[in-house]
Amino acid sequence: MITDTIKRFVGQLFGQRSNGMQRISRDKHGIDRRNVSRHAIKVCEVLQHEGYQAYIVGGAVRDLIVGLEPKDFDVATNATPEQVRPLFRRARIIGRRFQLVHVVFGQEIIETSTFRAPASESQATDENGRILRDNEFGTHAQDAARRDFTINALYYDPTTEEVIDYHQGVEDLKHRVVRMIGDPRTRYREDPVRMLRAVRFAVKLNGKIDAASQEPLQSMAELIENVPASRLFDEMLKLLTCGHAMDCLQRLRQDGLHHGMLPLLDVVLEQPGGEAFIELALDRTDHRVRAGKTVSPSFLFAALLWHQVELRWQQLQAQGETGIPALMQAADSVLDEQTEKLAIQKRFSADMREIWFMQPRFDRRLPKSIWRMIEQPRFRAAVDFLQLRAAAGAFDSVLAQWWMDLANADDSGKADMIEELNHLPREGSVGAPRTRTRRRRRSPTAVVGQQDAPFVE
Ligand code: ATP
Ligand code: MG
Repeated sequence: MITDTIKRFVGQLFGQRSNGMQRISRDKHGIDRRNVSRHAIKVCEVLQHEGYQAYIVGGAVRDLIVGLEPKDFDVATNATPEQVRPLFRRARIIGRRFQLVHVVFGQEIIETSTFRAPASESQATDENGRILRDNEFGTHAQDAARRDFTINALYYDPTTEEVIDYHQGVEDLKHRVVRMIGDPRTRYREDPVRMLRAVRFAVKLNGKIDAASQEPLQSMAELIENVPASRLFDEMLKLLTCGHAMDCLQRLRQDGLHHGMLPLLDVVLEQPGGEAFIELALDRTDHRVRAGKTVSPSFLFAALLWHQVELRWQQLQAQGETGIPALMQAADSVLDEQTEKLAIQKRFSADMREIWFMQPRFDRRLPKSIWRMIEQPRFRAAVDFLQLRAAAGAFDSVLAQWWMDLANADDSGKADMIEELNHLPREGSVGAPRTRTRRRRRSPTAVVGQQDAPFVE
């Protein structure tokens, strides 16, 4: 480790860290070409055939080297968007601030961007140094220098199977070190989201943030307040769905990065009452992500905010407001409060509301209204949410299982189950505890983390 540090220091002295490009061969980086998206390879080949430079870049290269499955594949090239687009049958230029090309192959989109110049004096920044525009094309070396961490500045050439490494990223990756390229303070000031990214990558790689990149986090945490709410939402979602959500949140707390960033996180991490439920929700999300399944943002945020909604609902009821309208009012006020800092998109918050509003309707099984519930688009998600509540001990587990069985049954199975209810004694009012047990129609699969459907968007 010490010799490593000395080597780096010497390297910096002689300018190797900024100029010393290394070509790393297959036997050293270990990427198996068969794990690389054939569409990404195709994009590189077409561009190279036209005489351009083209590499697979960023998270995909990082993940391939450590043996994780990349989420998506991005390509970097010295061709401009106008030069890239006509080379592919289905390609479109997107983005206003910095244009890039989406090359579309069925379900897969290969994001192809032109080498970009790093932040320079002339770039527009806000009063805190946050970059507002960076839209100049640059050289390959400049493109590497403007990336955030050394491990994210690796370029894989599928033709030669070499990795181009300007900042000793492969070495850092081997030691699982997240190291900022350039001066960490300047780079965090340019874009405070990088602080959250540092935490996410350290957790995801089961590694650590190097000392110089770690040191400024506490004191610079408040800069996150200047980040636009929609950007924060995107980053938060990435953090919560990286497969290690609770670890990430704990790391954020350790580094003082959660405070003020989102009232939501203060609640999640500091309010004892809601913890079991949230831990379950995050745990379950992690399992799904690691099993390669999709995760629904609405479901996740519905779970994270439920405790607060419930508390507010209880307060309103104590003030004499009644049932569902009070719940709606509670939901609105919690969402308003949260979205000040973190813009939960409308399409997500609409789903969250549906999931929440259906919860009191699970208390009572009224044959006539059950069909109407089933027809609601978020019925599956709401039933799944109910399983979480049951697993956290907040809802009768036998009744929760009945609803899950109902959601899983085909139409005639559903009709049978609902018909059976007519032969049971009438059930109590909303919120009444349930003690009666029923024979289960299916194997008990309602264990959190095992159900498949509603998490899928
Ligand atoms: P993942 O997709 O797994 O979250 P990623 O590294 O691919 O990780 P993206 O947000 O997809 O992250 O970004 C792709 C690449 O763009 C990164 O690897 C990095 O090189 C660069 N990048 C992304 N965000 C920033 C940033 N805020 N500052 C500098 N470079 C960035
Ligand atoms: Mg990515």
